[in-house]
Amino acid sequence: MIYHKTDEEIELIRQSCLLVSKTLAHVASILKPGITGTEIDKQAEAFIRDHEGAVPGFKGYNNFPSTLCVSKNEVVVHGIPNDIPFTETDIVSVDCGVFWNDFFGDAAYTFAFNGVGEEVHKLLSVTRASLYKGIEKAIPGNRIGDIGHAVQEIAEKENGFGIVRELVGHGLGRNLHEAPEVPNYGSRGRGTKLQEGLVIAIEPMVNMGTKRVAQLDDGWTISTRDKKQSAHYEHTIAVKSDGPDILSTHEYLETAIKNNNYLSEIQ
Ligand code: MG
Ligand code: MG
Repeated sequence: MIYHKTDEEIELIRQSCLLVSKTLAHVASILKPGITGTEIDKQAEAFIRDHEGAVPGFKGYNNFPSTLCVSKNEVVVHGIPNDIPFTETDIVSVDCGVFWNDFFGDAAYTFAFNGVGEEVHKLLSVTRASLYKGIEKAIPGNRIGDIGHAVQEIAEKENGFGIVRELVGHGLGRNLHEAPEVPNYGSRGRGTKLQEGLVIAIEPMVNMGTKRVAQLDDGWTISTRDKKQSAHYEHTIAVKSDGPDILSTHEYLETAIKNNNYLSEIQ
């Protein structure tokens, strides 16, 4: 069952998404070689709880143990923060959710430290571009397949990267995961028709090599099978009569990256 949101509900989701966006910017401001996933997770949780009534959206969800998913290098998504320090050649995907005023917000970004090579930078750049290509298709009358098709076109067809099939974007609102599923692959004109008030998280997960993934023994971490790098960018958007309304923003964190000498910008 798909629940279409009222304008008032969309504004509450926007507030949750903006807090997610600011939390990711805080993370971008403290990332440096030597800091650990555990430390950024602790700071993200404190940042969220500084806002009255706001709580981390992932912590405790199906018993997930932390505020952030921290997924390094070959980890695609759902990495659990740990005490291994980041190094200057790492890429780090940070996924954050917030629950505030009865509504969730969800967004993610893959950061690159200064020592990351050109090939991996291209993966990040193409994956981020694929997110915006998908968002462009989120207009009333289009279908879910139009979004996935647009993501697939640039990531797979034009650039030869592998799109993860097992994990997909999703509706969200009062629940973190609602119908419909939003795959990052698909056929034009197929799937659920998009209507005004639909709120979905679009989140391409794109691998340098094979699209195949495996789940680690911790029951959460999803890794590429070939251990090559993977990227993940996510926005929560609302389908409006005049086009997609992006409720989260990467602007704050991209400003923080510019001001952080240890991180390099995604082109
Ligand atoms: Mg997310
Ligand atoms: Mg999501």
